[in-house]
Amino acid sequence: MFCVECGREGLALAEGVCADCLVRTQTLATFPDRVAVEICAHCGSLRRGSAWEDYGGSRQATLQAQARQATEVDPRVEDAKVEVDVRAEDERHHRLSITVTGRVQQVPVRLDREIRGTIRPATCLRCSRVFGGYYEAIVQLRGEGKLRPDQVDRAGAIVSRVLDRMQAAGNRDAFLVEAREEKGGVDYYLGTTASARIVTKALTEEMGARLSESASLVGRKDGREMYRVTFLARVPEYAPGSFVGLDDRIHRVQTVGPKLVSLVDLATGRSVTEERERMRGARVFLREEIARAVVVSETETDLLVVDPATMRTVELRKPAGFARSSGEVPVLRWNDELYLAS
Ligand SMILES: [Zn+2]
Ligand SMILES: [Zn+2]
Repeated sequence: MFCVECGREGLALAEGVCADCLVRTQTLATFPDRVAVEICAHCGSLRRGSAWEDYGGSRQATLQAQARQATEVDPRVEDAKVEVDVRAEDERHHRLSITVTGRVQQVPVRLDREIRGTIRPATCLRCSRVFGGYYEAIVQLRGEGKLRPDQVDRAGAIVSRVLDRMQAAGNRDAFLVEAREEKGGVDYYLGTTASARIVTKALTEEMGARLSESASLVGRKDGREMYRVTFLARVPEYAPGSFVGLDDRIHRVQTVGPKLVSLVDLATGRSVTEERERMRGARVFLREEIARAVVVSETETDLLVVDPATMRTVELRKPAGFARSSGEVPVLRWNDELYLAS
């Protein structure tokens, strides 16, 4: 048997021709002339069509992927493999060697092509918005009374956490443009109204914020009116988990609703509900005020501890489901009484 194209003998043949002639005379693969990728010079994100995507890989890898995607292999090539080798000439310019291997009717074939790959630095939409100070919504954090520094820190952590989570879920426009300290609080300028809503929801759940919302017309886009939304989030001095003194008793705050606050009386373990307005006069204990007391003994219902202030032993009632992990328990002292802060 000989190749009907070149006449050589003793070679494996497919469709009557040898591998070399097959590759020469048939279109077994089509290659891109060149590939170019746009990468945001500021955040490294990658343009895909008209959208930008976060991208954590290398420039080489994105060129490789692009070249592989743009290479079309004829279905006659079985077990086709496309390999791309990238050599950088400088920051932007690359040489890509694409190799297609496979078999046509059991005859191994190999095609090689060299193309250029370019990295184009650009500025993605999000970065241009961030640099341009673009924002859709403002969340104004204020206190019902005076806002404490630890409350500002906590709110800041909530804002970061919510935005990080949204960005991780692919919501690239959920960004913080600026956190501006204002008289009485902090204003958070946010990229999208949707992200502002999720931030305020978390502030409500975790810090008991009461919300009000207002919108102002800022212009028109594509015939639609554009609004900028301002959320005012007023947080009380306490939050779920806080300890508060009210009517000569210490309570742990369970939940903070828009009107009602649910509490647990530390002395009795009973749940009580208070009007939020009545809570205004409550004594709010700070984390630093919680002390540690050494446990001397423990029964089914009580704990015998050493009062860290007086060094006398004091009996404390154990709340339902109480469990301790060490020989010390958190305590609060108020009006000469000691309470188990749990
Ligand atoms: Zn041949
Ligand atoms: Zn960017």
